[in-house]
Amino acid sequence: MTEYDAIVIGVGAMGAAACAHLAARGARVLGLERFAIPHEHGSSGGDTRLFRTAYFEHPDYVPLLRRARAGWEHLESRTGARVFDETGVLYAGPPDGELIPATESSARAYGVEVEEVADAPSRHPAFRIPGEYRVLFEPGAGFVRSLAAIRAFAGAARADGAELHEGERVVEWEERGAGVRVRTDAGAYEANRLVLTAGAWTPQVAPGLAGRLTPTRQVVGWVEPRAPSACVPPAFPCWAIEDPEDGLYYGFPLVDGPSTDPARRGLKIGRHVPGPPIDPDHVAPASIAGDEPHFRRGVERYLGAVGGVTTAVTACLYTMSPDGHFMVGPLPDHDAAVVACGFSGHGFKFAPVIGEALADLALEGRTELPVGFLSPLRGDRAGGAA
Ligand SMILES: Cc1cc2nc3c(=O)[nH]c(=O)nc-3n(C[C@H](O)[C@H](O)[C@H](O)COP(=O)(O)OP(=O)(O)OC[C@H]3O[C@@H](n4cnc5c(N)ncnc54)[C@H](O)[C@@H]3O)c2cc1C
Repeated sequence: MTEYDAIVIGVGAMGAAACAHLAARGARVLGLERFAIPHEHGSSGGDTRLFRTAYFEHPDYVPLLRRARAGWEHLESRTGARVFDETGVLYAGPPDGELIPATESSARAYGVEVEEVADAPSRHPAFRIPGEYRVLFEPGAGFVRSLAAIRAFAGAARADGAELHEGERVVEWEERGAGVRVRTDAGAYEANRLVLTAGAWTPQVAPGLAGRLTPTRQVVGWVEPRAPSACVPPAFPCWAIEDPEDGLYYGFPLVDGPSTDPARRGLKIGRHVPGPPIDPDHVAPASIAGDEPHFRRGVERYLGAVGGVTTAVTACLYTMSPDGHFMVGPLPDHDAAVVACGFSGHGFKFAPVIGEALADLALEGRTELPVGFLSPLRGDRAGGAA
């Protein structure tokens, strides 16, 4: 008998959720994390993540998002942690752009509540939205507190008996018999199944996927609000605005509660465009002077009246897949390993359902959850598109 039913490599967003789901089913679980749980060196730092269900990226994600939303609520009731804030999300963009038509068609396909906002200047006065843009509002959307969520998943996993090792890096693994053997910088372990959730480091632990995953450096910033009382929901919800030149800007209202960095005061803003490819072990630290230009034009254009000086910036990692869609399923050419990677800058909101799918795949060899369109094999079979 092996020591564990499953070893999870990487206890970030997806790995922590997988550990919690595996342990809740009574599996013997070992989670191995090279940094602390949680930490800010990977893809999940910066405190907050948007949660949207009217999904412009592809309507096939909507059933997974509904399951994920229930998963966030379950995590809150199980642990008492505050993880999800339903602020709504305001969408604005050119009528013939990508964001508005695709958000609307996802909402229509699955009956997600989204309303047209005809009176944006009076309802949401802090935003400066071009008159020719269409504006939509999804009331059931909001944001997830990313580091609190990882902490809560890890706590739930430990409470159900999972062993989580922090500061222990996996060096190599191999299939042995019907299971796996994993070697770290501190020891060696055996399990029936391996779950790979190593984020931007996935190419190091799954070299077969290296050519299809590109880690990129992403920057987000915080700006001082000139009128703080105008920057809270409902007048100031989470938001996403398509810019014809710069891509998608997005942001958050003023968020209460502690941040990992006290300099992060004010309104968080980001630009959802893949940054330069990087080696995740050598990411240049963010600086206001060097990184502010990446998002500052979005502040001037869309938050003109309330956007003050930049108070902080941070660098975070995307792991781009070739088509921008996730890779979730059995690891190609391996019987005992499953993988979840290539989240391409939009995966956090799905963590509960991805953790559930990974637990199904690791323990049962199959899942009823509709993740087939995310198969890591899809590029080999169908030429790339998800
Ligand atoms: C700036 C930015 C903004 C984003 N905004 C949103 C958003 O608004 N909404 C949304 O849904 N998503 C968003 N995302 C995407 C989302 O955050 C990611 O998809 C998600 O965090 C990916 O989780 P992960 O578990 O794959 O990676 P991580 O959380 O980085 O976890 C991977 C873990 O594996 C560990 N690891 C790697 N190699 C090893 C090893 N050899 N041994 C042990 N441990 C190892 C790492 O240390 C890390 O903890 C954003 C991402 C960024 C960077």
